[in-house]
Amino acid sequence: MGLETLNDTILKCNKCPRLREWCLQQEGSKKKFENETYWKLPLPGFGDPEAKVLITGLAPAAHGGNRTGRVFTGDTSGEYLFSALYRHGFSSRKDSLYRNDGLSLTDVYITNVVKCAPPKNRPDASEFHTCSPFLIEEMRQLKQVKVILALGGQAFDKTRRVLRDMGANVGGAAFGHAVIYDLGPGFPVLAGSYHPSLYNINTRRVTPAMLDDVFESIKTYL
Ligand code: SF4
Repeated sequence: MGLETLNDTILKCNKCPRLREWCLQQEGSKKKFENETYWKLPLPGFGDPEAKVLITGLAPAAHGGNRTGRVFTGDTSGEYLFSALYRHGFSSRKDSLYRNDGLSLTDVYITNVVKCAPPKNRPDASEFHTCSPFLIEEMRQLKQVKVILALGGQAFDKTRRVLRDMGANVGGAAFGHAVIYDLGPGFPVLAGSYHPSLYNINTRRVTPAMLDDVFESIKTYL
């Protein structure tokens, strides 16, 4: 299965009724976007098929990716992530506004562990297990990846579990900002970063300079 076929399969997936229903319910539920038509489908990854860096989030945001149809697009997280990618030469634009805004990525592919937006931004354990084969297949298809960067502790934990199931040596890999772990022969390294969420940005738990540190480390590794 190629990446395009995989993404077509993701788009048609309907295995998690709770999440599918939640995605549909979001349209019209937020005043700021009340006149917009939402994407509402499962959200495939986006980026360079020859990427050396795979970025994982936990799941699409209800009014971000679930609205715009592209990962980390149309919300604060995307604003800070893509501007950091732009500063480091990975993105053609610093703003990620909507699905067909012309933005392209070089050497980076972005996806979520779970492909449908969940209530309270938390998929349950069964939804993670149902959806994780898609991430495994993405990892298999993205053959040039040398670094996996997980954004946030939840995404780090779930990405680590998927890598463990694939046979990686994840023992001792604990989440932190700007950490990088060697997972053994045949696997990319696993890196972590605080999530550039609105809360983390407003509380300065993560800043643009801290995101720069992460991407500088990754570029040094590459
Ligand atoms: S979360 Fe994943 S497995 Fe569940 S419906 Fe969405 S795409 Fe399918």
